[in-house]
Amino acid sequence: MSTNHPAPAPRILIAGGGIGGNAVALQLLRAGIRATVVERADAPRPGGQAVDLRGPSREVADRMNLLPGIREYQLDERGMKFVDAEGRDIVRMPTELFDGKGAVAEIEITRGDFNQVLLEALAEAGGVDYRYGEWITELAQDETGVDITFASGMRDRFDLVIGADGLHSGVRRMVFGPEEQFSTYLGGYMSFFTLPTPETAENHWFTAHSLVGATNIGLRPDADPSTSKALITIRTEADPALRRDVSAQQDLVRRRLAGGGWEAARFTAAMAEATDFYFDELARIDMPTWWKGRVVLLGDAGYCGSPLSGHGTAMALIGAYVLAGEIAAHASDPERALPRYEEVLRPFVAKAQELPPGGLKAMTPKTSFGIRAGHTVSKLMTSKAMKPLMMKMLTKSESYDLPDYTTQAVSR
Ligand SMILES: Cc1cc2nc3c(=O)[nH]c(=O)nc-3n(C[C@H](O)[C@H](O)[C@H](O)COP(=O)(O)OP(=O)(O)OC[C@H]3O[C@@H](n4cnc5c(N)ncnc54)[C@H](O)[C@@H]3O)c2cc1C
Repeated sequence: MSTNHPAPAPRILIAGGGIGGNAVALQLLRAGIRATVVERADAPRPGGQAVDLRGPSREVADRMNLLPGIREYQLDERGMKFVDAEGRDIVRMPTELFDGKGAVAEIEITRGDFNQVLLEALAEAGGVDYRYGEWITELAQDETGVDITFASGMRDRFDLVIGADGLHSGVRRMVFGPEEQFSTYLGGYMSFFTLPTPETAENHWFTAHSLVGATNIGLRPDADPSTSKALITIRTEADPALRRDVSAQQDLVRRRLAGGGWEAARFTAAMAEATDFYFDELARIDMPTWWKGRVVLLGDAGYCGSPLSGHGTAMALIGAYVLAGEIAAHASDPERALPRYEEVLRPFVAKAQELPPGGLKAMTPKTSFGIRAGHTVSKLMTSKAMKPLMMKMLTKSESYDLPDYTTQAVSR
């Protein structure tokens, strides 16, 4: 990548060391721009279950030269199945049924492992100024830069600030307005954590079970076969008291799983021991614009689709690639990159944020009648006659015309 910018490289601050923040830091570094990353957590955040790379996100991972690293952690997931309360199969959907484009895609990797791949690539590329346990407390911008005060008390000035700090973004709140203005509650919560693989688990299969009372539990393979990822989806009214209160969150999970069939009891027991318990509301972020002056939002902070959309990681990764590409192309005047980033990325995000038909309701039926009806629909989905319609639905965000920033990329 060309590093002979006529002007010195812009000083860029990235808030958030998740997929979006780390991916943009990596591409900027390869463009000769060594950003500062502040991550609120004290260390890389573990946790999360399988996220997939398909179509344009797989292409971006390839262009970013991440596929060799991904292959080291890649999951061998062979399909998805629904089971009854005794663990007996009801419907099986092998990966090849939808040509690797269904619920289980060709490349699956846990979110924590993917983040690790990005961190390793960052270290290999020379590393950036990375600060854990740090976040922005004050932000004031003028025409030539952004003044930042950090939680540690440190102050600094940057040419550009990237808010990649997730669904509950602090940068978004400080610059664009309160979260309620942009967030739509999608009707429930999701929780993920690691547990020892139960003996009943079928290797390499994503197994799901619906409980009466609008709750769904799932088990997905981990890179280490001795452990698996629990996935719990709960449909309920929004409860602000659940925000950041882990014991209230776990109480809700416990109540919903009490007396449930299949591995519900094991999930509840394992949750208490989990070191990577994750719980958050299902919400969508819609913003009229993703940038203001010298501040720009990336990933969930700007356009969260929730895990229900299935494209959160894809949006963050592609967003990072486009944002870094545009900044590298406008290195002497990085402000000009921001409208271009938005213009290029909007069409992809518009499709990727769409929820599957039926949304959360279809995923979490309330009654046993609803659960049976859901199984009937799933069986129908596996029929040959439905395949063309299913493929159209599953590939709707794959037709994105991904710009090529390789002239700015040193990795190729
Ligand atoms: C622990 C965890 C597990 C997840 N598991 C799944 C999953 O299993 N399936 C799924 O579909 N999605 C999951 N997600 C969400 C998924 O990672 C994102 O939808 C997607 O990857 C987009 O990433 P992002 O970088 O925009 O946001 P995120 O991945 O949420 O990353 C944001 C980062 O910013 C940090 N942060 C938050 N506030 C601040 C602040 N004020 N200053 C600095 N840093 C801050 C957070 O600690 C986090 O590391 C998970 C997110 C996390 C954090």
